[in-house]
Amino acid sequence: MKEQKIVVLPGDGIGKEVTTWGKKVLETFSGKNGIRFTFDEALIGHTAIEATGNPLPDETLQKLKASDAVLFGAVGHPKYDNDPSLKVRPEQGLLKMRKELGLYANLRPIRLFDELIHASSIKPEILKGADILFFRELTGDVYFGEPRERRDNGNVAVDTMIYSKMEVRRIAKRAFEAARTRSKKLTSVDKANVLESSRLWREVVQEMAKDYADVEVEHMFIDTAAMKLIKDPRSFDVVLTGNLFGDILTDEASQIAGSMGMLASASLGDQTGLYEPIHGSAYDISGKGVANPLASILSVALMLDISFGLKAESAKVIQAVEQTLKEGFRTRDIADATTATDKIVGTDAMGEKII
Ligand code: ATP
Ligand code: MG
Repeated sequence: MKEQKIVVLPGDGIGKEVTTWGKKVLETFSGKNGIRFTFDEALIGHTAIEATGNPLPDETLQKLKASDAVLFGAVGHPKYDNDPSLKVRPEQGLLKMRKELGLYANLRPIRLFDELIHASSIKPEILKGADILFFRELTGDVYFGEPRERRDNGNVAVDTMIYSKMEVRRIAKRAFEAARTRSKKLTSVDKANVLESSRLWREVVQEMAKDYADVEVEHMFIDTAAMKLIKDPRSFDVVLTGNLFGDILTDEASQIAGSMGMLASASLGDQTGLYEPIHGSAYDISGKGVANPLASILSVALMLDISFGLKAESAKVIQAVEQTLKEGFRTRDIADATTATDKIVGTDAMGEKII
């Protein structure tokens, strides 16, 4: 029996509530197919600051580096939102973790379950069948580029948008490979009409396209992509883009799936993979037992497939979600105000149904 070490990082707010269920789903597969999962928990975010003064304590980092996969919840706390004077902040833990683990590829599948077609604010006839896989670059771009500073007595601010060919190539490779297993269509999103880093981006993708002659490659400007995503989401399959554009585009795309509470993600590099819902700590609903655990559970489906090659098990998780939705069970965020047949349940009841 092969042992696989999972580090669970509940983090803050509803992160703790939903991760419990992701973990329980994983436990149901442990000891089967020659793989046994062992679990270890560690601190991150506001919870870690309160306990140790550090949003990513060394002990956590050591555990992460020795793990085979990470199940993460969310970080954040309202007290930081409007107080820039707080210099030690929960998100620093997340950024440092991504950097330290070399997690440069962020995968966000946007899948609309048929049962939730009315939960979205987009028209059903435009949405039906939408299924997009985003590849967002995660460790470069304007979020990390130097210099980043104030000039002229603070009256001017500078950030630097920067990409190297190597950084574009390694994320593009993953997107091309994924396109091969799907409908063989790749949309690369940039702003190559104005930005030099985008011209480099496009150049690299065009170069690589020669090695993937079976994949149809389309280049699109970010502004056009933002518009088309709402107008005709079904025209996208695999989307490849940088850190900033990907940040904005994937939040926009979350509306295709009806709720933030339905969206999973994987962050991958050369070592351990990290799996998390795309939503945050959501303190407005935390502690009330109403958070939707499906994003965490669907993150586990990604983990089973990508980190452990358990494709059938991964499909089973997705099937369980489909079945539970078919039976009418809904957390508040995905309930349809127009139907009386929805059975509104809390976090734990939804988790139990999936198990
Ligand atoms: P953070 O500051 O950590 O990003 P947030 O408070 O901005 O957290 P988000 O996760 O960005 O919260 O989500 C925005 C809103 O969407 C939340 O305030 C919450 O009402 C709703 N939401 C997010 N995730 C879920 C979920 N899993 N279940 C139900 N509602 C959710
Ligand atoms: Mg948020």
